[in-house]
Amino acid sequence: MIIRQIETGAMANFSYLVGCAATGEAAAIDPGFEIERLIAEAEASGLKITAIVATHGHPDHSAGCAALKRRTGAPIFIHAADASPHIPADRLFHGDDELRVGKILFRVIHTPGHTPGGICLYAEGNLFTGDTLFVGDSGRTDLPGGHRPTLAASIRRLMTLPDNTVVWPGHDYGPTASSTIGWEKRHNVNAKEYGYFVDPAGNPP
Ligand SMILES: [Zn+2]
Ligand SMILES: [Zn+2]
Repeated sequence: MIIRQIETGAMANFSYLVGCAATGEAAAIDPGFEIERLIAEAEASGLKITAIVATHGHPDHSAGCAALKRRTGAPIFIHAADASPHIPADRLFHGDDELRVGKILFRVIHTPGHTPGGICLYAEGNLFTGDTLFVGDSGRTDLPGGHRPTLAASIRRLMTLPDNTVVWPGHDYGPTASSTIGWEKRHNVNAKEYGYFVDPAGNPP
């Protein structure tokens, strides 16, 4: 699996290219800004964008979907609860789902709370978390459709993934550009409130 993390725009957004090493097909995750950079990065990496996925409907994660679809012909995927007129979606997710890109099989995990239709994508030990989970923090819940207990429940589900799962967030807000599920259990500022804190010294909760 080939992963390219590309920081774009003025809000420290991360877009991702996730490519199949065998077929060269790639998913573009969260194309908010600077679409031509994503296309150039795909070409430089020998990848062809065949799927466009927005982890949720906020414009900083989805504003580039339509332009990228025009340039690549790739279909757009988003959860139904975050569909909007500015995103010409080809397929809507309605809960947990799956998405195949080349030989990569993404598990689509419905993670509402930041928005009602937020999703995370999991494949081969890598988790793309949008604005659900950041390195050391988690998404806002004070915007329309946000709900803090719902987000907490969503993140608790993510915490059932193996500790060495790599977390790839939707913004560069943390001390590092990526982390792991195990690190978040010990260091995320919301870990205690959201009920997944694990003491670094190994003491029980
Ligand atoms: Zn957002
Ligand atoms: Zn965002």
